[in-house]
Parts: sequence; structure tokens; C-alpha cells
Amino acid sequence: MAKSHDIIVIGAGPGGYVAALRAAQLGLDVGCVEKESELGGTCVRVGCIPSKALLEASELFHQANHELASFGVNVSGVSLDLAKMQKKKDAVVKANTGGVAFLFKKRKIARYAGHARFLAPGRIEVGGEALEAKHVIIATGSRVAPLAGVELDGERVVTSTEALAFAEVPKHLVVIGAGAIGLEMASVWSRLGAKVTVVEYLDRILPGMDGELADEARKVLAKQGLEFRLGARVTGARRAGDGAVVEIDGAEPIRCDRVLLAVGRVPNTEGLGLDALGLETDRRGRIPVDEAYRTASPSVYAIGDVIAGPMLAHKASEEGVACVERIVTGYGHVNYDAIPAVVYTHPEVAAVGKTEEELTASGVPYRKGSFPFSANGRARALGQTDGRVKMLAHAETDRVLGAHILGPRAGDLIAELVAAIEFGASSEDIARTCHAHPTLAEAVHEAALAVDERALHI
Ligand code: FAD
Ligand code: AMP
Repeated sequence: MAKSHDIIVIGAGPGGYVAALRAAQLGLDVGCVEKESELGGTCVRVGCIPSKALLEASELFHQANHELASFGVNVSGVSLDLAKMQKKKDAVVKANTGGVAFLFKKRKIARYAGHARFLAPGRIEVGGEALEAKHVIIATGSRVAPLAGVELDGERVVTSTEALAFAEVPKHLVVIGAGAIGLEMASVWSRLGAKVTVVEYLDRILPGMDGELADEARKVLAKQGLEFRLGARVTGARRAGDGAVVEIDGAEPIRCDRVLLAVGRVPNTEGLGLDALGLETDRRGRIPVDEAYRTASPSVYAIGDVIAGPMLAHKASEEGVACVERIVTGYGHVNYDAIPAVVYTHPEVAAVGKTEEELTASGVPYRKGSFPFSANGRARALGQTDGRVKMLAHAETDRVLGAHILGPRAGDLIAELVAAIEFGASSEDIARTCHAHPTLAEAVHEAALAVDERALHI
């Protein structure tokens, strides 16, 4: 007899494992199928967590080499032990995958190891074993998008997964794509001593983020040593001898020793048996769902990177919670206007809500307040004065519509603005809120004052 559960979740990434936890919390009998031996998905194993561990570590190395002396802290004999740095990163990952496993045990979630495939609605097969459930949530995530002509070999021409585990610092790394993942990995290896060239098809970096701040970010990153080749389309990349070559439309090829392909990610649906459900994906390979995350097949749902929307861990988790709550209680939703996005370069870039470009395109009248970190006391003390906070509010109602930050700890600062948008706050609400001194958050306060042209410290 097939094992049976109230809900089975396929995939234990931040979408799937959070959905499983919430379902168990609501009293359901839950099973979760994961094909990898560790839980946590792309995010925990080969994404958000290991990249942030290496970003923190490489930043410390950079600071020891280039920043500490300016504070009167003289260090000598600074050297890199990359094997140890990688071990530390691996330990951070293990603590997180282990943490998810602990939570699964605590919530009595049945864990199935293997690749799940649908046999019929409510019926799946894992490694020869049949499982049944009243509801099945597909949370199979995404994998690296291929690029025609780029021959991945796992060593010289690689994806982020291998670039997170290089055993030696590349001499010259070429990164294809100036999105979040490309720039984060470029930063890590540049700080550790690699020459890094970022080749981007568009004439700007960080597509989708505020253009003005992206331009400022490019200048700051270029000062740090990243070389940008914008408006350059990669047409091929492959191993060549003991190095690699990257071909660019209309330009000389670049010879280097490693290439990272980072032009986006595509949803994981192969081998999932969607045909057994009569389900089709859209033209970008995503599973179409309605506002309750229902697919066209009864009692089959989908969340996270495998459906439309920003490919972000917290978006996947929010959808996991909302999907389960809709199943159990009939309500629960995600506010897609209040999903932050953070790029963990140094300084960080963070955003929530609309960009100026979007507001202009949709004809929404807005007022803008901007405040530079160069005028913030705490940023000066940190020696991190690049960047600014930019706030966009409706010209008539003053409601905050978007916020964009380039600067130290931008990823933490954006939380206040996410809450502001979630609560429907006005820029005046933030302007009238007391912010501790001296903090970086005072730059958010001043940007809110600046919307009404009454910033005090500039
Ligand atoms: P995933 O995390 O991809 O999980 C899906 C899981 O399903 C996987 O474990 C997979 O093995 C499993 N699976 C797939 N098919 C099957 C099957 N048929 N049967 C069983 N199991 C299956 N996002 C952020 O928000 N912040 C960041 O800082 C960030 N940094 C990133 C850095 C890198 C290098 C990368 C690659 C991604 C990063 N992301 C970041 C994106 C983030 O990792 C994803 O948005 C997130 O993991 C999506 O969650 P998910 O649950 O939808 O899918
Ligand atoms: P993201 O999807 O945010 O990870 O960003 C991927 C980046 O890769 C985008 O900025 C794309 O414009 C860029 N890109 C896509 N195709 C190419 C290409 N052939 N050559 C260079 N850059 C590319």
C-alpha cells in the first residue's frame, strides 16, 4: 500500500521546506521529497548561504589588506588560507542544512530521498516507492540557465556552484552576466586577488534595479578593480589548453583561466511527470498558477523559483506559507509590491517596490528624496560613505512606492522600507519616526525628509 500524507512537498528549498514546516505547524501530516542528500535547496547548499559566507570572508581579507591601516590598525603578514576559508563556508552550510533537518524531525515531517515523479494527481513515485497525498506542492526550484555556445565543463567554464568551491584563486576570471549572482561571485574572487572581467550584454549592470543607483554601484565596483565590458554579447566560451576563451560579438575574444556563466536561472521541471497531470509550462519553462498557487491540475500547487516572479529565497518562502494557509484556512497571500531584493556586493544594493523607471513608464506622479551616506555620521565612522538612500513617494498621497539603497548594510536597512510599504506608510510617517543616533538608518530618515525637501543634514 502506498504511504499517504495530507500534503507532500516536492523539493526542500526555502519554498518547499518552509511550506512543509507551516503545514506541520497547522496540524497536517506532511511528507517532503528531496533528491539531494541535504535539505535546504539551492539557497542553503549552493546559493544564498555559501555565497554570503564567502562574501563575508573575502571582505575581511580585503579589509585586512586595504582598509584597516586607514583606521590606524597596522597588520602585517596578511595571507590567504583558501582551504580554511572554504572549510569555514562548508561549516556554515552544514549548520544550515542540519538546522532544516532538525526542524523536520521536530515537526515530524516524513523525509523521502530521491527524485519525485507524478504518476497521477495526488500520486507520486520516488525511487520505486509510490506515495499518495491529498495535496502536492511542487517546489522544485531552478538551475543555471544555459547560454548557446558556452560549453560548461565544471572546471574552466563553470556555474556558480563550482565558482563557490574553487580550490585556488583564478588568475583571470571572466563573469558572463552582471546580475546579482555574477557581481557577488566577481566580488569574492576579485577581493581574493583575481583579475575579474564582467561581460554584460546590456549597457548597464543589475537589470531591473534602479538605474541611477546601478550606475553608481558600477562606478564603485570598478574602483574596487572589477573590469566591466558593457554592451558586449557573449557568443561562446570553452576550455582552451589549460585556460579558457570567451568569444564576444564584434570584439576580440578574451583569454582567461576561468569563466563563470551567470545569465540567470531556469525552472526545474524535467522528469517531474507533468504530462501525467496534463500540465504544461509557459514559454519560460515556469508552471502557471493562480493566486492560490493552484496549477491547472486539481490539488497540485507550485511555489518558488518554478513559478513566475523574482527568483529569491524569501519570495519562495512567503509563497510556501501562503500556499499552505490557503489550503488549510482558505486565506493567505503574498504582497508582491513588498518583496525586497538585495545584492551583497560591498557596498550592498537593496530595493523594494517600484523603480523610477517603472513609475515613469506607468505615468504615476512621484516625489523623490535622496540622501548620501557621505553625510551620515555612522557611515563616516565606518569609513563606508559610498552610496545613498533614495525614496519614492506618490506625489499626491505621499504613500511610499519604492525605495532603493546603495550603501553599507543596505540589505538590513531596506527592512524598514519593506515594512513601510506593507503598512501603506507615507514618507512623512518615516520622517516623523525617531531613528537612533548615530545609525545608518538615519540616512533612511533623511531620505524621507528629503521627499518633502526638508532633509536636515545636507
Ligand atoms: P530551490 O532552492 O532550488 O530548491 C528546490 C529543491 O528541489 C532542490 O533542493 C532540488 O534538489 C529539489 N528538487 C528538484 N526537482 C526535484 C524532484 N523532481 N524531486 C525531488 N526533489 C527535487 N536568493 C536570495 O533571496 N538571496 C540571495 O542572497 C541569493 N543568493 C543566491 C546565490 C546563488 C549563487 C544562487 C544560485 C542563488 C541565490 N539566490 C538568492 C536564489 C535562491 O537560491 C532561490 O531563489 C531559492 O533557492 C528558490 O527556492 P526554491 O525553494 O523555489 O527552490
Ligand atoms: P540575472 O538574470 O539577474 O542573473 O542576470 C543575468 C545577466 O546576464 C543579465 O544582465 C543579462 O543581460 C546578461 N546576459 C544574458 N545573456 C548574455 C550574453 N550572451 N552575454 C552577456 N551577458 C548576457
